[in-house]
Amino acid sequence: HPEKKTIRDHLRKYEALLTVSAPRMRMIVSAFEETLEKGLVKYGEVVPMIPTYVFGWPTGNETGEFLAVDLGGTNLRVCLVTLEGQGKFEVTQTKYRLTEEQKQEDGEKLFDFCAECLHSFICDNLGRDENADHLPLGFTFSYPCEQRRIDHGELIRWTKGFGAPGVEGHDVAALFAKSLSKFNVRAKLTALINDTTGTLIASNYVDPNTRIACIFGTGCNAAYMETADCIPKIADMGLPPDQPMAINCEWGAFDSFEHQHLPRTKYDIIIDESSNKVGEQAFEKMIAGLYLGEIFRLILCELIDQGDLFLGQNTYKLEKAYAFDTAFLSLMESDPTDELLMSIGIFNHFFGVETTIEERQFFRELAKLIGTRSARLSACGIAAIVSKKGYLEKGCSVGADGSLYSKYPGFAKRLQGALVEIFGEAGKKITTHAAEDGSGVGSAIIAAMTVKRK
Ligand code: ADP
Repeated sequence: HPEKKTIRDHLRKYEALLTVSAPRMRMIVSAFEETLEKGLVKYGEVVPMIPTYVFGWPTGNETGEFLAVDLGGTNLRVCLVTLEGQGKFEVTQTKYRLTEEQKQEDGEKLFDFCAECLHSFICDNLGRDENADHLPLGFTFSYPCEQRRIDHGELIRWTKGFGAPGVEGHDVAALFAKSLSKFNVRAKLTALINDTTGTLIASNYVDPNTRIACIFGTGCNAAYMETADCIPKIADMGLPPDQPMAINCEWGAFDSFEHQHLPRTKYDIIIDESSNKVGEQAFEKMIAGLYLGEIFRLILCELIDQGDLFLGQNTYKLEKAYAFDTAFLSLMESDPTDELLMSIGIFNHFFGVETTIEERQFFRELAKLIGTRSARLSACGIAAIVSKKGYLEKGCSVGADGSLYSKYPGFAKRLQGALVEIFGEAGKKITTHAAEDGSGVGSAIIAAMTVKRK
């Protein structure tokens, strides 16, 4: 009869499963770099590397008034942005809550709602419709769209819980423009933007050393600036070879379907196989806020099943999929008390189970393993872009947004540490910082750049 495993034995096992070594990171970086290049060559690749038709960096001297509408996952946000030049700006904004029905009912109604909110925002902030006449409008729509120009984009597929019929496969800019005219909004829809691209441009406007933008929130994605000669799939546009254009990587799809490069564990596989998009977004599923708590929960369930945890206690609340929010991992990791009172509270209050101090110490270590893996894999994506673009020599900054980056303790530091492990001391020249508001300010700057170009 094998001896009963101790918590310490378990921890060693999970450490082995969840640790990404430096050599492993370097292998991932090199595969990632190849994948990024493949996506630039032809349409339909797993990581789609979407050309955004945002041609180059802002000068920092863009000025004027702009409207921005951001259809996000939970809210609709409308902004009036005044760009004052020299990297300065002012924003007036109103948020409108989206209902679950609005996400699922007819697409026309969804865009009508956006137009109606913009209309009332204009009346409230500018006095009357006429005052918004021909104000440039940026529309941030953060779902994968195939674009052939800046003010056009066909929705490839809804993500993040949306399902409004009549939108997939259609030009969302045209649908929105139709609704705008219905509500007598005369602002001119100038640019259709993804939030990562907006974040890239807004962060560069404020810090011109910014070369890459990442989102680490519910999902995970990145954008950077490419040159036309490196984007063979748009060769027919006849752009000058050194023409810069922002690329929305949609990198959450890295290693999807073939699963050759990432160190997936059985918990990652369970998450994938029980998701509504099996095989897709393999990279995102190991990194993003939506999934980290679930990885933790799956491991607890394994220990419960083996009879190694919470024996004799009622654990049904922990057995519900996605019951363990990633914010709990943050809270457990940042608990300053010796007794780990935060964990007592979480397990007691939310899941109705009692914990021992050894268990709580184990939970904290487990959270750390999961959070650290996420940061180290994220670093691999950043390193792939850095390496592809040769940014190591001069160094650059990376604008990062999302709750995981801004609220998870140690995430930014671990990311930085991993970059140094990948690149050596030179990795210190790649620094991340909290990004500027991409969907408001970024969208306004892109609208300003677009107007100037026309
Ligand atoms: P979105 O990506 O939808 O714009 P956020 O950037 O706020 O929004 O990310 C939301 C995700 O972040 C959720 O998956 C949530 O579980 C996670 N999250 C929220 N608060 C925290 C926290 N304090 N620490 C870590 N993750 C968090």
